Parts: sequence; C-alpha cells; structure tokens
Amino acid sequence: MTIASINPATNQTLQTFTPLSEDAALNAVAQAHDAYGKWRQTTFRERQKVLLTFAAKLRQQTDEFARLITLDMGKRISESRREIEYCAEIAEFYANGAETFLADQPMENVEANAYIHFEPIGALLGVMPWNFPFYQVTRFAAPNIMAGNTVMVKHASNVPQCAEAISQLFAQSELPEAVYTNLFISTETVESIISDSRVQGVSLTGSEKAGAAVAALAGKNLKRSVLELGGNDPFIVLEDADLEKTIELAVAGRIVNAGQSCVAAKRFILVEAVADAFIEGFKRAMSSLKLGDPLDDDTTLSPLSTEDAAVKLHKQVQSAIDAGATVLLGGDRPDCQGAFFNPTILTGVTPDSPTFDQELFGPVATIYVVKDEAAAIELANRSSYGLGGSVYTKDVERGRRVAEQIETGMVFLNQPTNSQAELPFGGIKNSGYGRELSHLGILEFVNKKLIHLG
Ligand code: NAP
Repeated sequence: MTIASINPATNQTLQTFTPLSEDAALNAVAQAHDAYGKWRQTTFRERQKVLLTFAAKLRQQTDEFARLITLDMGKRISESRREIEYCAEIAEFYANGAETFLADQPMENVEANAYIHFEPIGALLGVMPWNFPFYQVTRFAAPNIMAGNTVMVKHASNVPQCAEAISQLFAQSELPEAVYTNLFISTETVESIISDSRVQGVSLTGSEKAGAAVAALAGKNLKRSVLELGGNDPFIVLEDADLEKTIELAVAGRIVNAGQSCVAAKRFILVEAVADAFIEGFKRAMSSLKLGDPLDDDTTLSPLSTEDAAVKLHKQVQSAIDAGATVLLGGDRPDCQGAFFNPTILTGVTPDSPTFDQELFGPVATIYVVKDEAAAIELANRSSYGLGGSVYTKDVERGRRVAEQIETGMVFLNQPTNSQAELPFGGIKNSGYGRELSHLGILEFVNKKLIHLG
C-alpha cells in the first residue's frame, strides 16, 4: 500500500511515508493501553488545559495547517481555513463542556438512591477519511480525550501530512505520550488492532464498504463501534420557498468541498410549480463556477481529492447517461492536468439507473421534479442512505411536518445540512449508527455505570 501526499491540483507526489509493521502497530496499542491507566486518573481541569492549548495553536497556525489540507486533498484554501477554525471550536466545546456532560446523573422516578456515573473505557481506534482531514479526527479525538480514553488514529492514506501535523500538534499541546497516536498502517493491520483485547472500541468515518468491514470485525470481537458513512441527502424545494435564496444555498450545498461531503445536498427534489425557475437559476449559478488552483482565493471549484476519485465519478456519471439521464450541464472532465471535474447537472436519473441509489462524491447534482409535497417525501425516502436532508419553504409548520417524515438522522429547514459542535451529527440506514458532536458524542465510548446505594 502507498501512504502518499499527492497534490490533486497537479497530480505531483509531494511526500511518501512508510507504513508501520504489524509489530510496531501492536506496540503502539500497548503504549496507548498503558497511557490510558494514567490518563483516566487525570482531572477534567488537566484535560481541559491540553485541549484549550490545542485549540489556541490551531487558531495561531491556521494558515499553515490549511495549506497542508489543500496540498494533501485539494480543498479550496478558504474552506481549509474554515475547517481549522471549526476544529478549534470543537476542541473548546468539549474542553469546556465535558465535565457537565459527564456529571453524575441521579436516577429519577425510582425509590432507591441510585445514579449513573460516567467512566472512560480505554484505548480506542479511529479510522478516518480524507475529505475533512482535521475535522473528522478532531470530532472523534476531542470528546474521547476529555472523557479519559486514549485514541489511536488510522487516517486515510492520501492525507499523511495532515495526519502527522495533528499528532505533532497534540504533542506540542502537552498531551502525554500515547494518549493520541497517529498510526500509518494498512487496512489489513486495522484487523489486528481491533482484535487486540486492549482496544475497547472503534469509530469509522468513511464508505459503506469500509464501515461494513470494520463493523464486522468489531462485532466478531465484541467491541463498541460508531459508523459515520455516506449520504445521498435530499434537498426539497416546495412551492413557497424563497427561490433566489434557495438557489444560492443549493449551489453552496452541492459544491461544498468540491461536492465531497457526506452531507452535501445531492438530490434536488423540486415540486412542479417551482421546477422551471429553480432549474434555470441553478444552472446559471453552477455554470459560473470557476475551476482552478485551490490555493488561489479566487477559485470557486477545486479539484477532487485524487485522480482515482475523478475517474470514478466520471464512470458513475457516464453510467447514468447510458441509462437514459439527460445532461443539463457538464457531465465530463475539463481538458487540463489535475483531478478536476466540471460542474454537472443531471435530470432523468430513474430508479432503475445504477446511479439512482449511489452517492456522487463531486460537483454533480441530480434533479427530480415531482407533483407535490407527498411525492417529494416519498422520493426523498427512496434511498438506502439516511444521513441528512433539507427542506425549503417559508412556512415553518409545513417545514416541520415534512422534516418529521424524512428518514434521516438530521433535517434542516431552509439551510443545507451542516455540522456544528453543539449539534448531534449522524445517520440511520446505510449511513451508519451512533452520534458524534454535541453532548451525545462524548457518550459513545463511556461506561454508563449504575451505582445503587440502596
Ligand atoms: P473509505 O475508502 O471508506 O476510507 C475511509 C477510511 O477507511 C480510510 O482511512 C481508509 O483507509 C479506511 N478503510 C478503507 N477500507 C477499509 C477496510 N476494509 N478496513 C479498514 N479500514 C478501511 O472512504 P473515503 O473514500 O476516504 O471517504 C469518503 C466516504 O466517507 C464517503 O462515502 C463519505 O460520504 C463518507 N463520509 C461520511 C461522513 C459522516 O460523518 N457520515 C463524513 C465524511 C465522509 P485507506 O485510505 O488506507 O484506504
């Protein structure tokens, strides 16, 4: 396997890294386990100090870390800067909130003097994707470090510069050794780690295929797991939506991270009454996007993360076209070096098309026109995914009614699905299980111990 930083804007290899041997990886597990014995004894105040230092350093070195993200995986530099700031917010949220979230909880409506006491459980493994290379790691590591667990991270093999920088940053924030460990390992070594009795749980963010493989290993070894997988979020536009604003949000929601976000708006479901006007405005806005160097602040659409990702997306779009879809815009790659893909709009992707139930990880929007609200809900739910979704209407009660009928883990009114430190994040169906962020995120890998005093 190759662990390499390859700039997707140029396809030039910047740096390569050597994977750890299995013995070295298991040695890291031993150290994470030993470190847990001491870390679990520390106070919230001591843990808070480390995470606040981590957050402060992120803010001080935003430009430096943002550049690493953009070089590793091609995100627009302004989005990379925002990702770093957001990681600082998440670290601060848990640094300041953990003690409250994990305070003893008296049992109500029972006669006994009993309460729930929250305790860490041990060394954990995080298997992380490349699309938000600092954010995904921070949302897993920050709550667990605050809870008293120790964490090891196998990051995606195409973002090694980010993986190394995060690990160094924790060390510079005076986190004791082996409370956070970056593991440059192959997917095969993941199996040995999950099987190791010293590891208590695993959290994976990534594709369904990787999620199923890791969850099977966790099940076989009776370990806790959290899975944050793909999504095919519906973006439902009703008759009374503020169309101008909705079109603006539709473009932003689709091209966030060049379209490579699990919660990007992917299926645009329009009721007939607004369809023509929406399509006209949406097409105009999508065609004005400017592909270019992601380090240039004027670029509005960056390359995909790797050449392979661009090739895969092209195949998916072509297979939709072969199955009868109509291309309203784009549909192909520009004639230049780098992992670029043109902004694309497809209509006529029917349920029998292979693409209908696939996640399109790039700047490709699929549009569906339906008769009314009921048909919009029915189509939104015709997906094996269930991550996020959004509904556009000026009528909040109507929005609530629709939102409550959408089968996903998150639904937003008049804004595309997004992530905030204080809000729970996660899905249902093939989008995974468990929640990250908010007070719920810190409860995934703790022992909710009942103490009964009679
Ligand atoms: P991926 O191929 O599944 O990779 C994710 C991580 O899993 C990487 O570290 C990868 O390692 C590892 N991995 C792959 N196969 C594995 C296996 N059999 N056993 C153990 N580990 C394995 O996904 P990706 O392409 O990086 O990320 C895109 C996917 O993530 C999309 O579907 C996206 O929607 C989803 N995602 C979900 C969320 C969410 O919160 N729900 C957030 C972001 C992304 P290598 O890199 O070494 O292969």
